[in-house]
Amino acid sequence: MSSAVLLEKTAVELSDLLRNKEITSEEITKAFLKQINRIDDQVHAFLHLDEQDFLTQAKDSDKRRAQGKSLSPLDGIPVALKDVISVKGQPLTAASKILENYISPYDATVTRKLKEAGAVIGGRLNLDEFAMGSSTENSAFGPTRNPWNLNCVPGGSSGGSSAAVAAREVPLTLGSDTGGSIRQPASLCGVVGMKPTYGMVSRYGLAAFASSLDQIGPFSKTVEDAALLLEIISGHDPLDSTSFPTEVPSYTQKIHDPLAPCTLGLPKEFFGEGMDNEVRNSIEKAVEFYRSQGHRIVEVSLPTTDLAVPVYYVIATAEASSNLARYDGIRYTSRSNRAKNAVDVYAKSRGEGFGEEVKRRCILGAYGLSSGYYDAYYLKAQKTRTLIREDFNRVFKEVDAIITPTSPTPAFEFGSKSDDPISMYLSDIYTISTNLAGLPAISVPCGFTEANLPIGLQLIGPAFNESSLLKIAHAYDNEHKFGCVSPTLAKE
Ligand code: GLN
Repeated sequence: MSSAVLLEKTAVELSDLLRNKEITSEEITKAFLKQINRIDDQVHAFLHLDEQDFLTQAKDSDKRRAQGKSLSPLDGIPVALKDVISVKGQPLTAASKILENYISPYDATVTRKLKEAGAVIGGRLNLDEFAMGSSTENSAFGPTRNPWNLNCVPGGSSGGSSAAVAAREVPLTLGSDTGGSIRQPASLCGVVGMKPTYGMVSRYGLAAFASSLDQIGPFSKTVEDAALLLEIISGHDPLDSTSFPTEVPSYTQKIHDPLAPCTLGLPKEFFGEGMDNEVRNSIEKAVEFYRSQGHRIVEVSLPTTDLAVPVYYVIATAEASSNLARYDGIRYTSRSNRAKNAVDVYAKSRGEGFGEEVKRRCILGAYGLSSGYYDAYYLKAQKTRTLIREDFNRVFKEVDAIITPTSPTPAFEFGSKSDDPISMYLSDIYTISTNLAGLPAISVPCGFTEANLPIGLQLIGPAFNESSLLKIAHAYDNEHKFGCVSPTLAKE
């Protein structure tokens, strides 16, 4: 099978080919490595890749399979990880100079689960420094480019994870989502991206940004592939005290159960001003599709919608200022060689090691937590967060899922928002409230603009009901498969 054909296969298709012994993991891995070597100097999705290690894992998988000891449907399938997820012995930079020379001493739980499933894992994918941003322009090691148009951003912060799947450099990746960082880049790159319910996937070994919001989740070409990867990485973990003790259903089986007619809600507050017309048209077409399949569409109201962005920027920055205090120039981070005394070590190492956006957030967060301002900002934001969650709880008494666009615009050009933090922050206006409420949400490709840039549809579900959300998303995706359309750049 030619490598051009292999690159277009979904993970489920690759898994079938492996099971039927029509191909080896080594052949698959080599095809993707060839693609990475061919185009990644243009896309810059990868910060690091150990090719030998990748190939050794592929050969090990082939040996297991030959002995009939294959570990899971993911055995032999390459999966690359955002550079905030620990892999023992590999670098983890979080796209920050301060961690430039750090090597992970242990595996994240998701990494361990992938290894136990036999996946071929490796590669460190680019992001906005410490996952703060929506474009990857905040990476200390240069931005990732959108495979659909190299002058445009891939979204962020998991821009390397979305671009790598869109450019057919790897069939599956993992990212992290604190306010939209999986769904927004998935939407801008025309691939599927899913943020699970808070507590569904262990955060052990994830470099923390805002611990009450962060979740790890999958990127893929199809919803079916996202289900496959999610099933492997989900589940209770005693090493993460916020991980929820619940059974992980077989998403891959449930997705094929017939979908009973459901009720889908369109929140009127999301469909106001600020949405690009082409985005609006695509979402309306997707809504029509669901209607034509016998599902009921109702208007719903989430009155706290406009509070989500400000609440997020108080809570996320407060948590970030606390989480990032550990990067102090004393322990595992790089240390300034201009420091003359202990206080200088902290100040200069952090001053030199962190980029502008990270500094802005640490300062903002420390301010919001400081005595005298705590009640006015942090406490008030926490109370408002409860109202946002209650809004969703009320709506989910009436509907099975909520439909919105993922991002108000398609991919934008480099530099167009980087000098204006507020306009950058608003690119997550549709994704942030689900993190505050802890809910699962998925972005599914739903078409293209006239300029051939992808558009994404967001579906939000009730907590711990990934099965039903994936089924509803699959019903659309299986008919349209926009994530299986490749950008010209990805084709040889
Ligand atoms: N863009 C948002 C931010 O900059 C969300 C980031 C994320 O989800 N990690 O905070």
